[in-house]
Amino acid sequence: MAKEKKLRVCSFCGLPESTDRRIIEGDNAFICDFCVDVCYQMFDLSTHYEEDSISLPKTEFTMDLTPRVIYEKLCEYVIGQEHAKKILSVAVYNHYKRVQNNLFEDAEVEIEKSNILLLGMTGSGKTLLARTLANILNVPFAIADATTLTQAGYVGEDVENVLLRLLQAADYDVDLAQKGIIYIDEFDKLGRKSDNPSITRDVSGEGVQQALLKILEGTVANVPPGGGRKHPHQEFIPFDTSNVLFICGGSFEGITEIVKSRIGKKAIGFNSNTEKVDESELYKQVAHEDIQKYGLIPELVGRLPIIASLDILDVDALIRIMKEPKNAIIKQYQRMLKMDGVKLEFEEEAIAEIARRAHKQKTGARGLRSILENIMLDVMYHVPDEKDTYKCIITKEVVTTKADAKIIKKKSKTA
Ligand code: ADP
Repeated sequence: MAKEKKLRVCSFCGLPESTDRRIIEGDNAFICDFCVDVCYQMFDLSTHYEEDSISLPKTEFTMDLTPRVIYEKLCEYVIGQEHAKKILSVAVYNHYKRVQNNLFEDAEVEIEKSNILLLGMTGSGKTLLARTLANILNVPFAIADATTLTQAGYVGEDVENVLLRLLQAADYDVDLAQKGIIYIDEFDKLGRKSDNPSITRDVSGEGVQQALLKILEGTVANVPPGGGRKHPHQEFIPFDTSNVLFICGGSFEGITEIVKSRIGKKAIGFNSNTEKVDESELYKQVAHEDIQKYGLIPELVGRLPIIASLDILDVDALIRIMKEPKNAIIKQYQRMLKMDGVKLEFEEEAIAEIARRAHKQKTGARGLRSILENIMLDVMYHVPDEKDTYKCIITKEVVTTKADAKIIKKKSKTA
């Protein structure tokens, strides 16, 4: 005869074993899975350190992406710029590791903040890189334009308003916003264009650099919740910027001349042909001292230890940009026409021609959209009315001679 199973009761809560209450048996006691959970919370196991490994405080910010994963995700949206993508993946990974590390009150080593300077021609993907990073990391993101910023007291935008934008992106969740990313565009415009101090950009130029320096190095700033100018009786939101990652971008036009004169003197030597050094290569060699020479104050330069330079996009890169990214511009047009029941095709030569035109404009990938908008205008105008259209083909002639796009009607699908 089978031995009757004894009913087991949790020694902690006194409730019996059941299908949804499992019991673990000890020497002289039992514990159910509910009580295990409670004990786990009481001990807050996640803050226990093992000898060689550090487990992170529960509910705090965690970074579970490796630099390689960040890089691969960036590749889904950003074409080329391999060097910058690698630098950024590592920098961002380290930044959030630093955020985690500094959560420990007893952290043996405090890791210093490393903001990033992105150098690259207009339309080469600086903003896209910063925005995509924020998306990948799922942190709030805000963009500011350095040229509109002014020192407090001058007409323009206070530096604190940049933080307000981040706060708004985080739905006023201060904790979340304090771990966000801010992209400051046109950073180069803060600098004087010359070594000569008499040619300063404007009187407040250095004041803005000083104001930015404070938030870049980490401070508790007072953010006016409604934006606009500060006034004395306003309530402020204290905003700690020490964990905000700042990515500053600019084209730094003319900086390659500074690089050339530096490496010309130091490395290449007199008589050598520095003219032939490729522009992209010179951009890659930009050092902190060059940025300083460009007109940024040394303290600010010091707060941007990571410099990543972007390549100048060639025709091949522009072709890929039109076709390959997840939200590539051609895919966007195809999607739009699909909603009207029409297939959209581009001949390879048409795409190449568009890329060549954009390349001539020297506005990087920025020119692609306006060229395409022009080309697609007629098609987008007529297609919604022409219910019997099956396919629309953009030929090279549509681009070069403004010929009509090739339209294939539904009855003659095989044509
Ligand atoms: P920047 O900030 O360098 O002036 P943006 O990042 O604003 O340039 O890019 C302008 C446009 O071109 C954006 O629509 C972006 O999607 C596209 N673009 C630029 N560079 C790339 C790239 N490397 N890969 C994919 N798209 C790009």
